[in-house]
Amino acid sequence: MNNSIATIMAREVLDSRGNPTLEVEVTTVGGASGRAMVPSGASTGIYEAVELRDGGSRYHGRGVLKAISSVESIAEKLMGMDVGDQESIDRLMIELDGTQNKARLGGNALLGVSMASAKAAAAAEGVRLYEHVGGSDAVLLPIPFFNVINGGQHAGNDLDFQEFMIAPLGAGSFSEALRIGSEIYHCLKGQLKDRHGDTAINVGDEGGFSPPLSRSEEALEAVSGAIEEMGYGGTVSLAMDVAASSFYADGCYTVAGENLDTGEMIDLYKGLVDAYPLVSIEDPLQEEDFEGFAEVTRRVPVQIVGDDLFVTTASRLRRGIELGACSALLWKVNQVGTLTESLEAADIASEHGYRVMASHRSGDTEDPFVADLAVAIGCGQIKTGAPARGERTAKYNRLLRIEDWLGERARYPSKLFD
Ligand code: PGA
Ligand code: ZN
Repeated sequence: MNNSIATIMAREVLDSRGNPTLEVEVTTVGGASGRAMVPSGASTGIYEAVELRDGGSRYHGRGVLKAISSVESIAEKLMGMDVGDQESIDRLMIELDGTQNKARLGGNALLGVSMASAKAAAAAEGVRLYEHVGGSDAVLLPIPFFNVINGGQHAGNDLDFQEFMIAPLGAGSFSEALRIGSEIYHCLKGQLKDRHGDTAINVGDEGGFSPPLSRSEEALEAVSGAIEEMGYGGTVSLAMDVAASSFYADGCYTVAGENLDTGEMIDLYKGLVDAYPLVSIEDPLQEEDFEGFAEVTRRVPVQIVGDDLFVTTASRLRRGIELGACSALLWKVNQVGTLTESLEAADIASEHGYRVMASHRSGDTEDPFVADLAVAIGCGQIKTGAPARGERTAKYNRLLRIEDWLGERARYPSKLFD
């Protein structure tokens, strides 16, 4: 079959928040095709690849027609390349862009082409995306971290911390973990409604509830209550994404109306880890503070995940590794812009004993590519929102399918946190 790229086209579609985003289709001369949709963050790191938006009044300035033009100019250069040669495709796009942060062509344009090419290559080979990227070793399903209470920039409540997650570490398989997550989610819904009334079960951007709480202890207490009622005490652990940059200014963190310095933040985490079965805390401090992250990692005995700190970028990750900042990388392909660069970051993390947690974005789409990629890199952890809302369940349902397709070869990493 002739796997040379024949066409690349882009269109503007809507994401889960109703904002425009890019969809890209790549076809080969031999007739294979791949289509990918680009997710979009709200609490984005300042060092992320630039998301090219049009400005002006159309779609409140969020249109992606400029990114479509970028794809058109990239397409001219990529015609005839082998769709299976991901690295050459990505490197050429990086060269064409020529900036540190993809500001010229847009990280969204690069990601759309990169992912659509990978999917077209999988189709040309007659395999699924996880097999194409991960090969025959790709058998490890990830532990799902379900974001069941939303706060921060993803919800209209007073919670400063962004995400309160449940992780069924003790499940025997991915499908069992998903069932447990769903059962707790619905139990939590009932409890929140009983305690705080109907509006408490409104949901945030990632499908988690957005109850009228303001302190992280209250959120962790609520989630623990639902876990307990369902009898999953020994099976399910807790995790948080603090997204601390979003409430940091001028040297202090404003948490539940109080101003805390770095030391006080670390004390807060130590107290929470003592009181609740937390196994993972993401972005506990603001995105510039590598030294502070190293101190958290030394003093707080759970997995410390770097999201805005690392932005899935090799250079920032290497700096963190040198300083001992974090023990895991949050892995978002659109933070860096191409599949090749994100695979490189995942490799660096693994080589240095850092874990990797694959992640969706708060503005996501029905494209489940992150589910395939999590299995492809065998990272063993994924967060892709609550077990609710189509763009979130698209990923979890895709993982169910992958588990089925793998059959007896499928593995679930219940020992990851032992
Ligand atoms: P974002 O949030 O997609 O809005 O950046 C997710 C996260 O912070 O992990
Ligand atoms: Zn985060």
